[in-house]
Amino acid sequence: MRRKLAAGNWKMNGLSTDLAELDRLITRHAAPAVDLLLCPPATLLAAASARLGNHPLLIGGQDCHAAASGAHTGDISASMLADAGARAVILGHSERRQDHEETDQMVRAKARAAHAAGLTTVICLGESLDEREAANTLDIIGGQLSASVPDNSTGENLVIAYEPIWAIGSGLTPTLDQIGEVHDFIRTRLERRFGAGVGRSARLLYGGSVKPENAAEIFTISNVDGALVGGASLTADDFSAIITAL
Ligand code: 13P
Repeated sequence: MRRKLAAGNWKMNGLSTDLAELDRLITRHAAPAVDLLLCPPATLLAAASARLGNHPLLIGGQDCHAAASGAHTGDISASMLADAGARAVILGHSERRQDHEETDQMVRAKARAAHAAGLTTVICLGESLDEREAANTLDIIGGQLSASVPDNSTGENLVIAYEPIWAIGSGLTPTLDQIGEVHDFIRTRLERRFGAGVGRSARLLYGGSVKPENAAEIFTISNVDGALVGGASLTADDFSAIITAL
């Protein structure tokens, strides 16, 4: 059985004072029944990790470079994330694909580096509104999936997040059938490529305007193993309500 996973992506939000939200979260969920992951900005990784004590919540980064080290001003390697206490990293988020022109090939190279550093990768896929309206969603997701996910992935170090670009931060969400269709498609593709072992143990998250109000119904969809939450992960109150719904 796959363990459910509630993951928070703080994006470019959060100063040290905001780690009080993390304190509240781990106090409220002292022995969580699901896996928890919080990805604050890189500046807070070490401080966030240091506050966990023995709590099982995992801290993750939001990006890493594909190289292990070198002349890449401003970038952070996967082993640096791990050194700061991260156990996971979000890769290929649509905001990075847009803002930094990241391609599937770049995402795959980063994922390889992250796996080599012992990190779990949360690889993000998603279609634009134009692509959905043109009925190209599954083609787009299939292409991103095959090109962004590295061959060495395992059931433990691979998490896929389906995040329709038009649902991110917009308050819009796909119908339950639309989410289910994409998640079933991703599961089938993973099983075909990696075999049943890896294909059935990798977790599939839905992301895009997940809120306390809609989380419970999204979590009823088969092959939805949790959520990647943006705005609603910024406060312990909202994120906690989503965790409880899982
Ligand atoms: P929102 O939950 O704010 O829509 O963001 C989703 C997201 O992009 C998480 O990575």
